[in-house]
Amino acid sequence: MLKEYTLDNIYKGKLELGDDLLTKLTEIVQEKEITTGKVTALGAVKEAVVSFYDQNKQKYGAKNLAQPLEIINLIGNISLKDGEPIIHAHIALGDEDGMLYGGHLEEGTIVFACEFIIEEYQGEPFRRGLDQETGLPLWVK
Ligand code: ZN
Repeated sequence: MLKEYTLDNIYKGKLELGDDLLTKLTEIVQEKEITTGKVTALGAVKEAVVSFYDQNKQKYGAKNLAQPLEIINLIGNISLKDGEPIIHAHIALGDEDGMLYGGHLEEGTIVFACEFIIEEYQGEPFRRGLDQETGLPLWVK
């Protein structure tokens, strides 16, 4: 499955101390009506919630990282789920020793500081639908 896009707009911005990282980025994407694109960010969080998908049980398990961490990288894509733009993002977080944690970004990750870039693409957006084999809401068309 392959689609072709061209770069349309680029947004750069910062989030505020105390913002919920995923919620705030999703609000921005929905306000701007961005249906296809890419999100990247760096900065730091006061605490984080990431999850890991158990491929056998076909269930996400969430992990609360209750400590200040650097956002080493956040990478995400924008597509449609139930007609609404959503962000699917993964995040790598580093502690004071340089050790990394990471996973599927969940709500509950609280911003200390965050600089983000959103690229909006022009082209037909992907839509998410339940994939029977994996149990995941993957791109269906
Ligand atoms: Zn994921």
